[in-house]
Amino acid sequence: MSSIDVTPLAPNDHAPNFVAELVASDVAQGKHGGRVHTRFPPEPNGYLHLGHAKSICLNFGLARAFGGQCNLRFDDTNPETEEVEYVQSIQDDVRWLGFQWDGEAYYASDYFDALYTFAMNMVLSGKAYVDSRSSDEIRDSRGDFHTAGMNSPYRARSVAENADLFARMRAGEFPDGAHVLRAVGDMASADVKMRDPLMYRIRHAKHHRTGNKWCIYPMYDWAHGQSDYLEKITHSVCTLEFANHRPLYHWFLDQVGADAAERPHQTEFARLNVTYTVLSKRKLQELVQGKHVSGWDDPRMPTLSGMRRRGYTARALRNFCDRIGVSTRDSVVDVQLLEHALREHLGATVPRAMAVLRPLKLVVTNLAEGEDIALTAPLRPDLEQNESSEVRPLTLSRELYIEQDDFMETPAKKYFRLAPGTEVRLRYACIVKCTEVLKDANGQVTEVHVTWDPDSKGGMPADGRKVKGTIHWVRAASAVSAEVRLYDRLFAAENPMADKDNWLATLNPASVEVVHAAKLEPWVAESSAECTYQFERLGYFCVDKDSQPTAPVLNRTISLKDGFVAA
Ligand code: ATP
Ligand code: MG
Repeated sequence: MSSIDVTPLAPNDHAPNFVAELVASDVAQGKHGGRVHTRFPPEPNGYLHLGHAKSICLNFGLARAFGGQCNLRFDDTNPETEEVEYVQSIQDDVRWLGFQWDGEAYYASDYFDALYTFAMNMVLSGKAYVDSRSSDEIRDSRGDFHTAGMNSPYRARSVAENADLFARMRAGEFPDGAHVLRAVGDMASADVKMRDPLMYRIRHAKHHRTGNKWCIYPMYDWAHGQSDYLEKITHSVCTLEFANHRPLYHWFLDQVGADAAERPHQTEFARLNVTYTVLSKRKLQELVQGKHVSGWDDPRMPTLSGMRRRGYTARALRNFCDRIGVSTRDSVVDVQLLEHALREHLGATVPRAMAVLRPLKLVVTNLAEGEDIALTAPLRPDLEQNESSEVRPLTLSRELYIEQDDFMETPAKKYFRLAPGTEVRLRYACIVKCTEVLKDANGQVTEVHVTWDPDSKGGMPADGRKVKGTIHWVRAASAVSAEVRLYDRLFAAENPMADKDNWLATLNPASVEVVHAAKLEPWVAESSAECTYQFERLGYFCVDKDSQPTAPVLNRTISLKDGFVAA
């Protein structure tokens, strides 16, 4: 009873979308021999976030829907920002989300030799040259949308000189920034990206896989299309910002003599944006480094590891991705759609329990000390009895805890919980009537005394009298004290990036509140990390990785209803 199945369910059938239609049409026409081979190509410079989940669901979903394959490929062309930690976390997150890539993981760095050979061949056929100006000079001579660029004076270098310099760049003879390799494009092209695009820069930096073997690294634009081609990717699905790179990718493939029929079909879709959320590895990195959060897996982070720790399920995320669909227009998805997918999945799967966050002692004066009334409660009261007969034991004893705000000495209008002289139902137990209130010297209520009605055992009074309020409770003697972290949205602004310079000012100052001595039913405390429960009337909570059976720590995954108040 102490754990629930948190393994991902079988991934969903892929929802139809325009990319799937396009792939279906290619398959019908026999392109690529009818093969479907996609890839998910993260740069290992941070942890995956919710936006990546959309791309993962799309790429792996396409492969599954068409009986094809999907590669995981690390686009690791930036030695300075990439780390093994990120490679590991990305693999863990993809698997957690419910997907498995075909074969080993691939790395753009596996193609450094092939890319170098392609580039040297371009040099030898006069299609690439070494430019020895600074990056500022190169940028300034590139022109812009309105003005043509100017040819570099180094464009006239001989093939022999270029080949010699490029080989020596590789051999490590020059410092960072001394030279770059550029393709011979068209400096007057209306497409600025075609103006002698950069292919290599010098970086004397250790790479997480190739170590110090290389000191020249391919530019992303040069590596990406060739990597897809070398992996025989049929459908290169990427986000909209790459639409205007497409002509360059094709042009590079022309230069390396790629077979036209074997080239990937590139298609772009809109990135996922979500209200009250920031989805950019660079920004998330800033939150981690600036200690605004406890780490990449802080339960408030929109990273997959953070959401997982918070209690999100892979199924809820996949359902969300299916529902938002795939489009070619940028839009912002309401975070409530995500929260709905989460509540829906948790509501349908997790066991119920009772916990008291802010305890107030309740003494049942007509029960003797040591007198126990055995009761049971369904683990899933939302199901019909024939669907689930699982129950958990509960014990009613003289000393209990209830929530402080389930008692009011001077009840407000329409307050149906406990107050002096009134009756309330203790969930799954009985009706109690308040007989006395004890206070300390400051007038704070310290204890509430009640009597229980033995004819209401189970919760329904024998005489059929109406008792409106029902409150949750735990038994004092067996309750386990726990730390409960009450999380709310990390950002208080609907669009945190509206003012890019002040996005950190939109952090929600109340995004976490820690309750130190909540009281749990004892069996909950025994469960392992990521087990999730609905605490009745309070919301969904999951066991944190910091939890110990003797010192449980739980995260509030989400409240039962949206109670967020925007700043
Ligand atoms: P970020 O801006 O967060 O660094 P990125 O695009 O640079 O994102 P990559 O590691 O290059 O991150 O992303 C891997 C894949 O995930 C790419 O194909 C990219 O298009 C996709 N992706 C990244 N962010 C989103 C998003 N918000 N919505 C959908 N797909 C995304
Ligand atoms: Mg990127």
